[in-house]
Amino acid sequence: MTVRIDGEACTGCGLCTDSVPDVFKMGDDIAEVIKSDVPANLEDDVREAIDNCPVEAIIAE
Ligand code: SF4
Repeated sequence: MTVRIDGEACTGCGLCTDSVPDVFKMGDDIAEVIKSDVPANLEDDVREAIDNCPVEAIIAE
């Protein structure tokens, strides 16, 4: 699984960066992806972050 953030949609709420800090971190205003190639052991956490993002700004590819 690979992920990226839709920078136009992200509001910088911090939900994903708090829940999966090994994959997401806060940039200046919006979240950034640290590991776009998600390690297998973090995929479930990332799927949950995708479901929980209030603006659907996390895109799995
Ligand atoms: S949960 Fe969504 S809106 Fe919030 S920081 Fe992460 S990508 Fe941005």
